[in-house]
Amino acid sequence: MDLYEYQAKDLFAAHGVPVLPGSNVTTPEDAEAAAAEIGAAVVVKAQVKTGGRGKAGGVKLASTPQEAKEKAEAILGLDIKGHIVHQVLVTVASDIAEEYYFSFLLDRANRKFLAMCSAEGGMEIEQLAVERPDALARIPIDPVDGVDKAKALEIANAGKIPAAVADKAADVIVKLWDTFVGEDATLVEVNPLVRDPQDNVIALDGKVTLDENAGFRHPGHAALVDKRAEDPLEAKAKAKDLNYVKLDGEVGIIGNGAGLVMSTLDVVAYAGEKHKGVKPANFLDIGGGASAEVMAAGLDVILGDPDVRSVFVNVFGGITACDAVATGIVEALKILGEQATKPLVVRLDGNAVEEGRRILEEANHPLVTLVGTMDDAADKAAELAAAGV
Ligand code: GDP
Ligand code: MN
Repeated sequence: MDLYEYQAKDLFAAHGVPVLPGSNVTTPEDAEAAAAEIGAAVVVKAQVKTGGRGKAGGVKLASTPQEAKEKAEAILGLDIKGHIVHQVLVTVASDIAEEYYFSFLLDRANRKFLAMCSAEGGMEIEQLAVERPDALARIPIDPVDGVDKAKALEIANAGKIPAAVADKAADVIVKLWDTFVGEDATLVEVNPLVRDPQDNVIALDGKVTLDENAGFRHPGHAALVDKRAEDPLEAKAKAKDLNYVKLDGEVGIIGNGAGLVMSTLDVVAYAGEKHKGVKPANFLDIGGGASAEVMAAGLDVILGDPDVRSVFVNVFGGITACDAVATGIVEALKILGEQATKPLVVRLDGNAVEEGRRILEEANHPLVTLVGTMDDAADKAAELAAAGV
């Protein structure tokens, strides 16, 4: 889960990283009030989960509350790389002597963490990384050793942070490490990390990605989810405890077991190449105990997706045998009644497959086609989806 800048900086503050005070608001009037409360020059900053806000006109200085209101008016509603601005952060404007870049991230390929640091931070960091990679230090971090003050100084020096502020920068780096580990983040990025004219080192921007798999350790993280920005189908699936990810194709997918569903996506994508290029519309794993209720909940979510033209139900009977799954499908279609409008291709295999097929054949539902193999079923589902395109 990616956080907004204001949320990232709240986490920074909780771990002792220096940030400037501010408030997150949704209207120009509230921006004016926030600026009046700060009582000094402010920066009004678009809160969207994408970079390059500065260049897109989403970061503006304002010297009076009236001006903060005008700047907020201009920024709210902006489209920044497809993200509409619904909220702005009004924060104390800092005088900037220098802008640095700093990040910790998970380096999956090397099974380590990585620190990246550069004395040449700011808005051109991607360009810097490409054109002068030497100016962006990359220091591997052993997960067991972590980052102490000595390691932090090594990182600051590698990034060529000036000696006058290297010690202060190292203190901030240790606290950013505390944030990274303490919050179970996979990314903590500060660009710019600034040096002000008094040689304070401050995180002026913040980008944090949290590891949702560690959510159970952080009850507070649930409150950071932006309900407004959530995909409505994903929210509905989450409410029903389903493991669902919306994709942008036309063939709805239901399977039991993450591995089976993943390979179903591949097989459908491949079959779709022969049928107008249709693709999987989602990932949905209904897990082991696929009861009629779970099957109905899954079908309900998938049929609610206007992009879906056909549904492929791919089940391998294990502990929950095929007869139970087949009964689940029949019951689910009864529960859904008129709401079930799209063709279903069903492939069953594994435990009690004969019984399962018999149940579906006897039910003889007009929307259901039973197909023997996974490849043939994928082809049939893609063909049906293409017919509706
Ligand atoms: P991004 O473009 O989305 O990464 O947004 P940032 O928060 O990094 O802001 C972009 C740029 O705006 C920074 O690199 C700074 O140069 C400038 N900026 C942001 N906050 C302040 C501030 O408080 N004072 C001044 N003078 N400039 C700021
Ligand atoms: Mn930035």
